[in-house]
Amino acid sequence: MSQETSRTTANSHEPAAPLKVLVVEDFEDTRFLMRLELEKRGFRVVEATDGEQGVGYAASERPDIILMDIGLPQIDGIEATRRIRADSSMRDVLIVALTAHHETEYRAQALAAGCDAYLTKPVDFDWLIDLLGRLLP
Ligand code: CA
Repeated sequence: MSQETSRTTANSHEPAAPLKVLVVEDFEDTRFLMRLELEKRGFRVVEATDGEQGVGYAASERPDIILMDIGLPQIDGIEATRRIRADSSMRDVLIVALTAHHETEYRAQALAAGCDAYLTKPVDFDWLIDLLGRLLP
């Protein structure tokens, strides 16, 4: 069994319910890898394959964290983030934008749309977990 994800913040004394991560990513291999790496570290993972579905799952699945690819079919990750943030019940969900290395021009847009952080792929998962530990309430 995978170990429970331990928060490195002040909440670490609480019995840790596994945090739920919504991965919004259109590329299947990347989704698979992200699920594998996140589950290994004790997270629960829900996957969405495009921006529209990401917005829908954000509302229905109530994840703690959303890993939002920017380059997505239908609506992109920037628009999806805007729509998620427009719902007042989802203002506090942690959203981390992910882009390919050559797409760094989206950084400012992603942050303006409401992303809490911005990472380029390939993802360094230990670094990501460390970042989440610092960003989570
Ligand atoms: Ca993509």
